[in-house]
Order: sequence, then structure tokens, then C-alpha cells
Amino acid sequence: MLPTFRAYIDGAFPEPAATFESLDPATGRPWARMPAASPADVDAAVRAADRALRDPAWADLVPTRRGALLMRLADLVAARASYLAGLETRDTGKIIRETRSQIGYVAEYYRYFGGLADKLHGAHLPVDKPDMEVFTRREPIGVVAAIVPWNSSLFLSAVKLGPALAAGCTVVLKASEEAPAPLLAFAELVHEAGFPPGVVNIVTGDAAGCGAPLTRHPLVARVAFTGGPGTARHIVHNTADNLAATSLELGGKSPVLVFADADLESAANAVVAGIFAAAGQSCVAGSRLLVERRVHDRFVAILAEKARAIRLGVPEDPETEVGPLATARQRAHIETVVEASLAAGGRLVVGGARPEGFSEGFYYLPTIIADARPDTPCAAEELFGPVLTVIPFEGEDEAVALANDSPFGLASGVFTANLTRAHRCIRRLRAGIVWVNTYRAISPIVPFGGFGLSGLGREGGLESMLDYTRTKSVWIRTSDDPIPDPFVMR
Ligand code: NAD
Repeated sequence: MLPTFRAYIDGAFPEPAATFESLDPATGRPWARMPAASPADVDAAVRAADRALRDPAWADLVPTRRGALLMRLADLVAARASYLAGLETRDTGKIIRETRSQIGYVAEYYRYFGGLADKLHGAHLPVDKPDMEVFTRREPIGVVAAIVPWNSSLFLSAVKLGPALAAGCTVVLKASEEAPAPLLAFAELVHEAGFPPGVVNIVTGDAAGCGAPLTRHPLVARVAFTGGPGTARHIVHNTADNLAATSLELGGKSPVLVFADADLESAANAVVAGIFAAAGQSCVAGSRLLVERRVHDRFVAILAEKARAIRLGVPEDPETEVGPLATARQRAHIETVVEASLAAGGRLVVGGARPEGFSEGFYYLPTIIADARPDTPCAAEELFGPVLTVIPFEGEDEAVALANDSPFGLASGVFTANLTRAHRCIRRLRAGIVWVNTYRAISPIVPFGGFGLSGLGREGGLESMLDYTRTKSVWIRTSDDPIPDPFVMR
């Protein structure tokens, strides 16, 4: 008997009418049953969220009290981090070393947004009319549909739920059907924290039964999406009817520029972190390495040695550095693209195959492909796997031109000891994030998001909370004289 998880709708955990199996990526075998939401379940969740918006238990809660609920949720996440990390590792194959530290940090996101709940306010405006007082109110935008992918789902939910709840919105959160366990378990913590029924609803299911009915729903005012660009286009089409405001956090093909004057050892560690951490299944994966030609061979040799030394293993082992990919489909896709890249002239430096000794699970070796060109398949396409493409460059102009030669623009890295060069690159790189002499650093305080096909909107930081509000302008006439000429606009 596999354990069965439940959805969370209107403050209750209903018996699922239909379920599907979730696979353990380390074995390829089913390990749990998940509740498959139907369009009727989605409708019930959205209606519950809509009712909760007007329910005095939520609508009349002062922002400070909303913040206190988020703080309580943060405490519960911190207390149960190890349990949640175990579930995320089991369902996604992500190594326990990373899930434990990431989920501990997720609590900080709820704390940060809890703290912001009573810091956001409207303004009193110095209006150009002597007999008027004008102020603005920042009101919750309404029901939010939050849709997240399978990777880092607790983290990617926190950057949506945190600001949405702090702003007074209500939420229907859709967990990915590939690995919904951590979010369905997180629902118990939301319940325990004491949010009124319907304020947070958590469902899972596929695009047709769950994703599309949710984003199309007429009562949804805002869609906060993280996932791939193809899905984002469906969402934009689906929101055409309800005109929901939309933020899109999408994929990337992030460039890492290594100049000859950089500390090569330190840069190599950052490159390894950028592409092999989480087995490359990270939206900010630094998958396009650009290296100044005169240190190219030396740098690739350092990287190859580090890649060969990476410890592959079962995700639950705290010593494991790279675990399996999340799905068989994902690995098959990577294999096809790697093969096409080698046929197109790429040179295999290391990896490029399934590891020996792992007959079960969706494992793939850390892989480096050198001598690539911008149009080599592995240099152009987001792979979402442990595959690094290396392209040499000659000088700063070529480095920036190669870096910007992509429809994506999520993250970038610059490794140099030259301060003025670093500043020039910061200005010229077309990406939402520039990391200088570091990579893969995040914080609740710092906005996160991309340019171009990497998305629209920012998550994290104060500005992300504004996107969950709408402005109401209030005019109060202070004169006791009768209103003059009614046919003239004042
Ligand atoms: P995906 O786009 O396939 O799925 C994401 C979510 O959208 C899932 O919950 C899925 O069920 C749902 N969905 C699918 N079709 C839908 C539809 N028609 N309407 C509504 N919802 C629908 O992405 P994935 O494969 O789960 O995740 C990998 C992708 O996510 C990569 O491209 C990665 O770069 C991206 N990602 C981006 C960020 C970021 O912050 N920029 C972070 C993590 C992952």
C-alpha cells in the first residue's frame, strides 16, 4: 500500500476522487499516490479563495496580524524542515544536503514577508486642488493562482505565497504533478498556523484537469507562474479571458564569463556550483561557460578534474553531491541533445553517459562539452540537467556579445579581478541577475527574475509585494461650498 496524499481545499483535506502515482527518481518506482484535481476541485478551491477574500476572519485581519500568521508559518516550516526536506528528496531526487539547507532558508522567506505585511502603505498626495484631500490605498489584488514546477517547489511557493498573503490576497497553489508531496505536506503547516479556511488552497494535477481551469478561472485576478516558456505561453493565452495580471519566472541559458585575470580555482568552484548542483536542474544553472582563450585549456582541465571527482549517489545520503534527474523523460531529452551536440562538432571532455553502477533511477553523469559554438544544440537550448557547454572568447566585447546571444536572460556570472571591467559587464549583460565573482546566491531581500524569454516580473524583495496589490485613489472634497459648474471636469 502506497501512502496517499490529499489536497487542501477550503480548510479541509478531502478524500481524493482520483489519484496518480508519484515515482521515486532514485529507483524509478512509484512510492506514493497523489490527489488528481479535477476542474470541479479547482473551481471549489478558487471559490473558497474568493469567499475568504471577503470573510471578516481574513478581510478584517489587520496587516500586523497577517504578518504574525506568516511568522507562525515560518516557525512551523523551520521546525519541520527536515521532514519536508525528506519528502522533497524522495519525490524529486534532489539531494538531501541541498533540500535541508534550502527548506531551512524557506522559513526566512516567510519571515521576511511576514515582516513586510504592515510596512506597505498608500500615500497622501499633494494634489493640485486646494479643496481636495487625496490618498491612495494599496488593496489586495484578489485571488492568486500560484503555479510552480517540480524543482524547489517549497522555495518557489514561498516567493509567491509570502507576498500574496502579506498583501491580504488569498491563494490557490498548484503543485507540479511530477513531485507534489512537499507542498501537500506543507498544507498541514498552513492549517496548523491558523490561516482561516480558503485563504490558502493547495491542489495538484495535470495541465488539462488542473492548470488550465485554474488560470482560466474568472475569479482569478493574478497568476504567479514558475516553469518553462512553452507552458508560460499557454498561461498567457488562458488568462486572455479573465485578464489576470501575470508574472512569469521561466527558464534560462545563463552565461558565466571567466576572464584570464580571475582566480581560476575559485571560479571553477562557482562554475561547478552553477551547473552541477541540483544536477543542473535549476533555472539559474550557469550552463554556458565563456572562457578567455588564453586560459581556456587550463580552466577546462581544472573543471574536468572537479567534475570527475563529483560523488554520485542516492539522494538520501548526505555525502552525495549529484543525484538522479527527476524524470526519465528529462534524461532521455538530455541524451538526445548531447548526442546532437557531439554530432555538430562539440567535443566531449567528461561525462556524456549514464554512470556505471546505477541500474535503477534516472542518473546522468556530470558532462562538459567544449569547442561549442552558439548554435550547437547544447549551447542554445535549456537542458535542465548537468551539462556544461564551453565556448572560448577573445576579449571583453566578444564575451559580452556571446553572453547576450540568447533569447533568455535570467542570470549571469562574471569572474574577473578587474573592477572596472566587472562594472562594464554589469551594465552590458542582458540578464535579470549578475553575480560577480560568485554564483547561485539568493536572498528574500533581493528581487529575482529575468529578461526576455526568462520571464516577466520579479519575485523577492519589497517590489514583489506591490504586484499583489492594486491601487485605489480616494478623493475627499473639503469645501462646504456647493459644487460649481457640473459640466466642467474639475
Ligand atoms: P513546466 O512548465 O512543465 O511546469 C510547471 C507547472 O506548470 C507545473 O505545475 C505544470 O503542471 C503546470 N502546467 C503545465 N501546463 C500548464 C497549463 N497549460 N496551464 C497551467 N499550468 C500548466 O515546468 P517543469 O518542467 O515542471 O519545470 C522546469 C522549468 O521551470 C524549466 O524551464 C525551469 O527553468 C523553470 N524554472 C524557472 C524558475 C525561475 O524562477 N525562473 C525556477 C525553477 C524552474
